[in-house]
Amino acid sequence: MVLNSSPIHNVSGSMDCWTPQQTVEIMTLSSVKKSRMSLAKCFVSSMYGGMLLSFGCTFVLAVNASPWFATNAPGVLALIRALVFPVGLIMIVLTGADLLTSNVMLMVIGVLRRKVTLWQLCVNWVVSFFGNLSGSLFFMAIIIVCYPPPPHCSSHNTDILGQHYGNIFHTPAQISATATFGNQKVLDPAWHEIFLRGIACNWLVCLAVILGTMSREVISKMAGIEFPTATFIACGFDHVVANFFFLPTAMWAGADFGVGYYIWKSLIPSLLGNIVGGGLFCGAGYWYLYVHDEEMPDYRGENVLEGAEVSELGGPTGSGHSSFKKNREDSEFTLRNGQHGGMDQSRGPEEICDSRAPGERSSRTRLSTPNGSSKCLPITHTTWTKYLVRLGDDKPCTGIKRCVSPADHDGPHHQHLHSSKQIGNGNMVRLGSLFIATLLGVAAAHGNDNHGSDKSSNNKHQKSEEDRVRPHKYAGGSLADTDNLSWNGVPTNETDHVYTNAPGAHVYRAPKGKKNVILMISDGFGPASEYFARSFYQYKQGLSFETQLPLDELLTGSIRTRAIDSLITDSAASGTAYSCGIKSFNDAIAVDHKGEPCGTVLEGAKKLGYATGLVTTSRITHATPAVFSSHVTFRDWEDLIAQQQIGDNPLGRQVDLLMGGGRCYFTPQSTEKSCREDDRNLIEEAQSAGFSYIEDRAGFDGLNNGSSVDLPLLALFTQSHMSYEIDRKASKEPSLAEMSLTALNALNKAQVDQEEGFFIMIEGARIDHAAHNNDPIGHLHDILAYQEAVMAVRNWVDEHPESLLISTSDHECGGLALGRQANWTDSPFYGWYPSALANATNSTEVVGSAVAKMVNHTDAELRTYLNQTVLTQWMGIDDATTTEIDSLICNRNTSSMVTYQLSDMLNRRAAMGWSTHGHSGVDVNLYAYGAAAEAGLFIGNHENIFIGKFIEDYLGLDLHEITTVLNNGTFPDPYSGADLANFTRNLPVYDHDHRGLVDLHASCGM
Ligand SMILES: [Zn+2]
Repeated sequence: MVLNSSPIHNVSGSMDCWTPQQTVEIMTLSSVKKSRMSLAKCFVSSMYGGMLLSFGCTFVLAVNASPWFATNAPGVLALIRALVFPVGLIMIVLTGADLLTSNVMLMVIGVLRRKVTLWQLCVNWVVSFFGNLSGSLFFMAIIIVCYPPPPHCSSHNTDILGQHYGNIFHTPAQISATATFGNQKVLDPAWHEIFLRGIACNWLVCLAVILGTMSREVISKMAGIEFPTATFIACGFDHVVANFFFLPTAMWAGADFGVGYYIWKSLIPSLLGNIVGGGLFCGAGYWYLYVHDEEMPDYRGENVLEGAEVSELGGPTGSGHSSFKKNREDSEFTLRNGQHGGMDQSRGPEEICDSRAPGERSSRTRLSTPNGSSKCLPITHTTWTKYLVRLGDDKPCTGIKRCVSPADHDGPHHQHLHSSKQIGNGNMVRLGSLFIATLLGVAAAHGNDNHGSDKSSNNKHQKSEEDRVRPHKYAGGSLADTDNLSWNGVPTNETDHVYTNAPGAHVYRAPKGKKNVILMISDGFGPASEYFARSFYQYKQGLSFETQLPLDELLTGSIRTRAIDSLITDSAASGTAYSCGIKSFNDAIAVDHKGEPCGTVLEGAKKLGYATGLVTTSRITHATPAVFSSHVTFRDWEDLIAQQQIGDNPLGRQVDLLMGGGRCYFTPQSTEKSCREDDRNLIEEAQSAGFSYIEDRAGFDGLNNGSSVDLPLLALFTQSHMSYEIDRKASKEPSLAEMSLTALNALNKAQVDQEEGFFIMIEGARIDHAAHNNDPIGHLHDILAYQEAVMAVRNWVDEHPESLLISTSDHECGGLALGRQANWTDSPFYGWYPSALANATNSTEVVGSAVAKMVNHTDAELRTYLNQTVLTQWMGIDDATTTEIDSLICNRNTSSMVTYQLSDMLNRRAAMGWSTHGHSGVDVNLYAYGAAAEAGLFIGNHENIFIGKFIEDYLGLDLHEITTVLNNGTFPDPYSGADLANFTRNLPVYDHDHRGLVDLHASCGM
C-alpha cells in the first residue's frame, strides 16, 4: 500500500471501499430511512442498541476487576479494556440497531441535506435516547447484577428466590473495581471536562460508524469500527450511552454518588458533548466537506445505492457504450411527401370537442371490476379540494379500485446496505490500509494538511482522471484531447457529483453550469411502431435496409411502463412517473397513489429559475402535458387542468410556454364549442396575467422562429387536438418540428443571461390516438412527424451542447404487430406490405367522420362516394369487396365504427395486426442524445420513474419541497417504506369476467 500525495483519491482509487463522499450519501439515505421508522420500531431498535453496547461494557468491567493487572500493569489493562469494548458497537452497526450517538450524526446530515426535518431529528433523538437508556438499564438490572446490592448478595446467598438475576459481578474485587470505575468517571473530572471528553468521544464513535459504513464487507467493517472505538475507551472519553450502563452499575456496586448527581454531573455534559462531537465534527463537518454546495442525487429513490454496485468512481470506460453515429448522412431524413389534400372542408378534428379519439376511453373501462361500483379516491384536502375535485362531481370510477394498502414499514433500516459479500483473502491487509489511509484522508480533508494538496486540487485531480475515461461527444477531437473538457466541451474547473441510478450503476457526474433538459414523449409508440415506420420510410423513399430513422441513432435502453394499479398504464400514470418520479394509478395527473399531489420536475425547475415549456399536438390539457403542470385525480377534468396551467394553483404560474391544441377548455361554456362547465374565460384570464396569446398560423409565424416570443406564451391552435400529421394543413397549423424549434429558441433566448437553462416537454401525442383507432395511416405519419421533430431538436442540441435530449414513450398503444394471420385456421404468413399504405392521404378518423356526415344521402349515393372518393382517393384502396362496402354503409351513422372498419381494411391489406384499441404493456424504447447520454446513464432497462428521478437529480431539483407546498406543509412521501410487492399482489386477477371474450372468438361462424 503506497500512500501518495492525495490520500482521499487513493481511498477511492485503489481500495475496495466507498469514498467519503459516497459514504455521506449512504448515511443520508440511512437518515431518511431512520426518520421514517415507526416510533415503536425505533424504540425497540434503540433498546437493542443499549443492550448490545452493554455487552461491551460488561466485558470492560469484567476485565477491570483483575487485581494483578490493576496493580502491576495498568497500561496493559487499559489496552485490553480498549480492545474488547468495541464488540458492542460492532454488533450494533452490523445488525443495524440504533444508537443515539451515531443517530446524532446521521440526523444532522439528513437535516443539512434537507431530507429530514428538524422535528424528525428531535423525535429520533428522544426515542433513541430513551430506547438506549431502557435497553442499558434492562441489561444491567436483569442480566448482570444481583439484589439486594453488595455486600448483601453474593454467589452463596440464595435465600431469596430470584435475587440473583445474572449476578455477574459478585466478587468483592469486581464490585469494588466497578464502583471505583464509576467514581473515577463521575466524581473526579469537572463538569466541563466531561463535556469536552464527550465531544472527543462521539467524534470517535461516529468516525467508527463512518469507517464501518465505508467498508464493503464484514471484516473490514469490524476493523473500521474497532480502532476508533478502542481509542475512545483507552482515552477514557465519555459516551453517554455506555455510561447508561457503566454508571448505574457503579451505583449498584456502591459508588459515591446518586441518580441526581449522575444526571447533572455526567449525563448532561456527556450528552451535550456527544451531540457536539457527532453532530458538528462528523455530521456537519463531512456534510460541508463533501456535499454542501454540490449537486447530489436525491435519495427518495430507494435503490440509489442500496445493494448497488456503485463501483469505482470514473464512470464507464466508454467502450461500446455509445450508440451514436456521427455520420448522419445515412439517414438524410427528409420528410413530407406531398400527400396532403383529399379531404376538404368536411375534415374536422378541430371542429369537434369530443374529448378523445374513439376507443381511447376504453382504456379504463376495460379494467372495470365485476360490480363496477368502486368510487374515485376520496380527497380530504382542504385548500386543494377545489383543485382536485370538482365539487359535487362524485364521478364513479370505472377503473379498478385504487385503494392500495397503506405504507407498511418493513423494519429497521440500517446504514449498512450492502450485504456481506465474499470475505476474501487480503481483507486484513486491505482493512489496515483502509484505516490508515482513511484517517490520513480525513486529516487531509480537514485542511492545512502536510501533504501539500488541498481538497480542491484533489478534486481536480480526481475529476480529470474520470474525464479521461469518458468519451466526449462535443469535444471535436480525439478522446485523448479531451482530458480537461467537461461533458459539454467546456474546460472543467468546477466539481460535480456522482450520479448513480441505472441498474448497471453507471457513475456519472452531473455537470455544473447551464443545463437544458428536453424531454420528448412519443405517446403510444412501441418498438414495433419504430420498425413499422422505418420499413415504410425505406419502402417509400426507395432506401437501403440499413437506413436509420432519427430515433434509431439515439437508442439507449428501454422503459417499463406499468402503473400502480394495473400492468397496463395509461398516459396519466406513466406521465406522472416521468413528471414526479413516482408510480401512480391510471388517470392520476401528478398525484401519488393516494391522490396526494406530487411536485413535478417542471415545477421544481421553475422554482430554481429555469424557464419551462410544454409543446404537444394534443389538447394542452391532455394527460401528458397535464402531468407536468397540474394536479388532479382524474385526467378528464381538463377544465381544472387548464386553470392550473395558467397559474390558478398554489404554486402560481409554472409554465412559461404552452403550445398545442385544446382551446375549448379555455373558453367559457356560453361560447360555441366550449368544453368548460363554467363561464370562466381562461384565455382572457391568461392574457390579463401577462400571457401573450396566439391561436393560428399567422400568430405562429409572427413568433419568428422563437425570436419574437414574449413569455409567458399561450398558443392554442385548435379547439381540440391538433390534426393528425397526414390531415394537417400547413397553412393552418404548425408541425411538431416547427413548434419544437420555436419553443426551444424562445426558452433559450429568455434564459440567455441566466445561469439556469430550461426544461421542456415536447409530445407527439397523436401517434397514440391513431393507434387507438388501429389506424396505420395516422399512426405512421405522426411517427414520421415525430422523427422529424427529433431530428430538428437533435440538430438544435448540437448547437446548444448544454442541452440533453431524452425521448421515450409513455406506453405502447394498440398492440401493434407486423405480420398477420387472418384467422387461426389459416397458414401463417411471413411478411407485411408497406405498399398497401402508400397511397392513403387521410387518417381513418377524419374519413370516418366524413362518412358519418353523409346523413342526407341515400345508401346508393354513399356507395358511389365510397367507391369513387373515400376508398380510392383517401384510403388508397382500389380492391374493396362488396361485403366491405356493404358493411361500411351499414355502419354509416357511427363515425367510430366506420373509422375502425377503414383501419381494418388497411391493416388486412398491409398484413398488420393489432391486439387492442387500448394500450399494451410492452416495454418502450428509450432514446437520448447529449453527453449525459453518452456517459451510459440511459443504457439498460429502467422503470419509468427513472426518468423523473433522473431529471430531478440532473437539474438538482427539490421535488420534496414542491410536494410539501402542494400539500399544505406536509410531505406525504409516496409509498415510503411500503412493501412495493403489494402493488403486484393487489392487482386484479382473472375472475372469469373475460370468458365472454374467449367464447366470442371460439364460437363457430364468426
Ligand atoms: Zn392512449
